[in-house]
Amino acid sequence: MRIHNVPPSASLSDPGREYRASEPGVPLRCCLRKSLPDEPVWLFRYSPSSGNGPYSEVGPIFTHVECPGSPSLDRLPVELLNNPRILRSYNAAGQIHDGEVVEPGSFDRAIEGLFNDTSIDSVQVRSLSHGCFFFAITRA
Ligand SMILES: [Zn+2]
Repeated sequence: MRIHNVPPSASLSDPGREYRASEPGVPLRCCLRKSLPDEPVWLFRYSPSSGNGPYSEVGPIFTHVECPGSPSLDRLPVELLNNPRILRSYNAAGQIHDGEVVEPGSFDRAIEGLFNDTSIDSVQVRSLSHGCFFFAITRA
């Protein structure tokens, strides 16, 4: 699988982005971990690329202002998968195929099962409580 994170430069597309000098514990979509105290972050509107047309969505995400790390993009980021998450799958046209709630410890198996279906092109990982986009996955 290939993980798709969001670089801090994506914040530039939202003129209403908000600077936060410290917002500990928020999920960072750049390095795919939770933020630490005193790490400056952007909060901004972002539209994941997997949804098209009426399936295109905009929602709030956090990234670092300056990201100090580069995550491994060939395996799942464990720090963002310690709670139940929504896996929302999309076809190549960018339409929602299905959605399911997956528990910690079951993500690899669930994602492998989704990609066994050739009509699924990408999968979004989202929070269960707020529905916020965390990262996308495609086949490697
Ligand atoms: Zn980062």
